Amino acid sequence: MLEEARATSIDAPDASVVELEALACETRERADVLNQPWPRRVINATGIVLHTNLGRAPLAADAAAEVARASTGYSDLELDLETGERGSRVDRVAELLCLLSGAEAAHVVNNTAAALLLSVEALAGGREVVLSRGELVEIGGSFRVPEIMASSSARLCEIGTTNRTHLSDYRDAIGPQTGMLLKVHRSNFSIDGFTTEVTLDQLGPLGREHDLPVVEDRGSGSFINLRPHGVPEPEVWEGLRAGADRVLFSGDKLLGGPQAGIVLGSRELIAPLKRHPLARAVRVDKMTLAALHWTLRALLEGREHEIPVVGMLLAPLSELEARAQRLASGLRAAGWAEVEVEKQASSVGGGALPEVEIPSVVVRIACRAAEPQESGGRGKSSSPSDLAQKLRMGRPPILVRVHRDAVQLDPRTLLDSELDALVEALGSRSR
Ligand SMILES: *Cc1c(COP(=O)(O)O)cnc(C)c1O
Repeated sequence: MLEEARATSIDAPDASVVELEALACETRERADVLNQPWPRRVINATGIVLHTNLGRAPLAADAAAEVARASTGYSDLELDLETGERGSRVDRVAELLCLLSGAEAAHVVNNTAAALLLSVEALAGGREVVLSRGELVEIGGSFRVPEIMASSSARLCEIGTTNRTHLSDYRDAIGPQTGMLLKVHRSNFSIDGFTTEVTLDQLGPLGREHDLPVVEDRGSGSFINLRPHGVPEPEVWEGLRAGADRVLFSGDKLLGGPQAGIVLGSRELIAPLKRHPLARAVRVDKMTLAALHWTLRALLEGREHEIPVVGMLLAPLSELEARAQRLASGLRAAGWAEVEVEKQASSVGGGALPEVEIPSVVVRIACRAAEPQESGGRGKSSSPSDLAQKLRMGRPPILVRVHRDAVQLDPRTLLDSELDALVEALGSRSR
């Protein structure tokens, strides 16, 4: 900052005392920001359960406690206490994953992008990976399947077209150079209309016929049947049963745990992954393993509602309605006019299921620009995006949805403890 100021003051040598004061003030503000804990807690009232920009899945407090317990002292992370010999850091978590999925073996790495890269290297390094052109996806940020392929030693063999890929396309592409048949989930878009896609049911037998592994990058994976709750995603084991030899998915999407890349498959296909030199570069840390262990235990013991993402996805409409009413009356009491409770939809999130919206109940705050101030209500004089920005800049920052001439607060993604904080923050802000 000082350097910048010096550079400008050379251009304008008569910098006044006032400017120096402003500079001191700015410097202090910047220092205050640097001094604060980060990442900052924000209140997610968007209703988007898995929001990549907001850190995806919030961890259960109990999972976070396990992280603290496991990481504030030494642990048996890589030690077999009985024999005193070195153990594997993923075995305990892998055992739970196998129990939950019925898979023979499992491995965990830093994230799904790493799981894909490691899978490609370990199973098809130096050879070809066959993938449909309809699945050459970009997940966001810098995750683009063709680029991951390019950064590996494998070659991408694109088949079919954007909208249609047939089993014969896979069959025709298979040659002596082929190392793997890959399927990638379209996590953030869909293709409608004149389309054909080859399913794992069809791909499995083809892979076996040619002795080629079939790998599915699911992106998101769940061990709960979410279909009755409006989320049309198969459980992860269904991919294995359908014909994939190996399924990859994220720990912090529908599973609701920490960031991690989980791989399920046969012993034969998981072992090379653990042995590969890249495995060390993408290995998972103890804090992640502790949180993942708690999450998987919660699932095994039928305590899935304790996992925040699961609780949010399965929240009954009656509960959402009750929270919305509580929020709305709090806001009205704080002086907000034009507050209504209405039926709307929440989304699961871009990184998991693009199209899926589940019925929800939201609190709608109408904002009409140019409404006279003296009409009694507060918070009406700004546009919805002004209000959204104001809320985002507050303490705590509050993220909302903007819909036409209103700001919407979706209670699905609000933790109980946040309802009152939200009313308080909005109340004080409207004054
Ligand atoms: C989200 C996603 C990934 C990336 O997962 P990370 O755990 O964030 O690395 C990879 N593939 C698909 C299909 C995804 O949806």
